Amino acid sequence: MLATIGLSAVAMTTIVGLRYLLASGAFAWATKYKRPGLYRGLSSQIKREIGWSLFSAAIYGIPAGIIAWGWQQYGWTRIYEDWAAYPLWYLPLSVLLYLFAHDTWFYWTHRWMHIPRWFRLAHAVHHASRPPTAWAAMSFHPIEALTGAIVIPFLVLLIPIHVSMLGLVLTIMTVMGITNHMGWEIFPRWLVHSHLGHWLITASHHQRHHERYQCNYGLYFRFWDHLCGTDRGLSEP
Ligand SMILES: [Zn+2]
Ligand SMILES: [Zn+2]
Repeated sequence: MLATIGLSAVAMTTIVGLRYLLASGAFAWATKYKRPGLYRGLSSQIKREIGWSLFSAAIYGIPAGIIAWGWQQYGWTRIYEDWAAYPLWYLPLSVLLYLFAHDTWFYWTHRWMHIPRWFRLAHAVHHASRPPTAWAAMSFHPIEALTGAIVIPFLVLLIPIHVSMLGLVLTIMTVMGITNHMGWEIFPRWLVHSHLGHWLITASHHQRHHERYQCNYGLYFRFWDHLCGTDRGLSEP
């Protein structure tokens, strides 16, 4: 049993690590064409970002591997495969529930990590990227990585989700994690500066967090930042 749990954890770590290298690599490559020279002089920082990110991949992979094993062996989770198990309207709702729950957890743990003593211990690694690059998406100290790694494994035990919608949540998590650190805005101006954009977090919003530190703590939505008065708008290009 221990061997199969271990195997599942190693497999998940490999998947998370490869997903990081491929996705960050693709956006770093796009940056070369879209914003030539943006990462000039950052090669030693990028090496550190990749190192921390691969270490984080193991921290993400282990709980994910254990939960995936428990799901396959004992049906631990509320992940379902039968499209008819819940009404169709629940599919988009489940995605929103996962994103909102993750965003809420992220906002409050992120604020906690900006208390100076916790910042030095757990969050300084992430802010050592100045400015962050597409490779910084998982550049976390192990304590910060652990706070992120337990979210989805915990949620799948509680909130029913179709396996394909879980795939969508993980894709959004990966893409937004990278694009928010990429150093340039990939979303069109009409969206970023719209009423909808007022509630959504993209690179222009998170870039300002990396510039000013004490604001813009959210992950996907600006809901908590607006509610708690920590939203300082968008970074000027
Ligand atoms: Zn960041
Ligand atoms: Zn921060």
